[in-house]
Amino acid sequence: MSPLDRSPVQSPSKDRPPVATAIVDIAKLPPAATAQRDCSICNGTGIEFRSENELSVARRCRCVPECPRCLDSGTVTALVNGEVRTGRCRCQRPIDRARLYSAAQIPGRYTQATLESYTQGLLQHAPENMGVLEEVSRWMSDWRVGQENRGLIVWGPVGRGKTHLLVAIVRDLILRHGVPARFVEFTRLLGQLKSGYSEGRSGNAIIDPLIQIPVLAIDELGKGRLTDWELTIIDEIISRRYNALACTLGSTNFRPEVATGAAPANAALVDINPQTLGDRVGDRVLSRLQEMCDFVELAGIDFRTIEQ
Ligand SMILES: [Zn+2]
Ligand SMILES: [Zn+2]
Repeated sequence: MSPLDRSPVQSPSKDRPPVATAIVDIAKLPPAATAQRDCSICNGTGIEFRSENELSVARRCRCVPECPRCLDSGTVTALVNGEVRTGRCRCQRPIDRARLYSAAQIPGRYTQATLESYTQGLLQHAPENMGVLEEVSRWMSDWRVGQENRGLIVWGPVGRGKTHLLVAIVRDLILRHGVPARFVEFTRLLGQLKSGYSEGRSGNAIIDPLIQIPVLAIDELGKGRLTDWELTIIDEIISRRYNALACTLGSTNFRPEVATGAAPANAALVDINPQTLGDRVGDRVLSRLQEMCDFVELAGIDFRTIEQ
């Protein structure tokens, strides 16, 4: 329904002022509804986050009142430089961004993972990594909608908060730029692909969405048993995203160097893993990633041993 279809007679609220039937100049329209700045749920962003069915989802915060500009229809018709134009009302931005966030499939346990919460954790436990945050901030501020953007891979031993940082970056890209993104855990992705194949879905039906999404974040790159078939799949995803100049993010426990032929590490000695990312995903994939992405190393102490 366009705002013009809404006559005072149909209005459910007696208090609502009559709606003008003539199309007015855009400058004369009332401002769009915004969130309450002091809202304790959304901190004035207009977006509320929660965990649902193991995933992190978002919706527009209930502090946003009915929109005086579009009467919650979501569209505005007005004169712009004397011409009639119809467009999406600004009040819809939190709804659109919340929808993109919910579609990103971020795990529910990372609902509170933001760059702010990451910074707080670093300041407390691993201030030597603050330089990493500066590199990430620089990378984020260079990021532009609609242009070719370099990817980013966070690497380092387990327990340094790599997934938290990766989620925080994805969240910020979605909320700041309104860019569609998808978060996947590497072994879970391989499992999904395998079950998709066994259900008779074509490879393209499974892989194409992972190529078309503007931002793909792969957590725990190189983890798992890695059969030849799985390596073929990861090679296909990375090669096609490379050819499409798409922005790929990731995290990995493995040093981003070429294959050494080393055997997998003893589970008790993960901090001195002799295998490289090249050993895990193959040198071809590694070389593509090195061309597409910046790499930042997270060192420091294991957050998880501190928090136990
Ligand atoms: Zn709110
Ligand atoms: Zn509106």
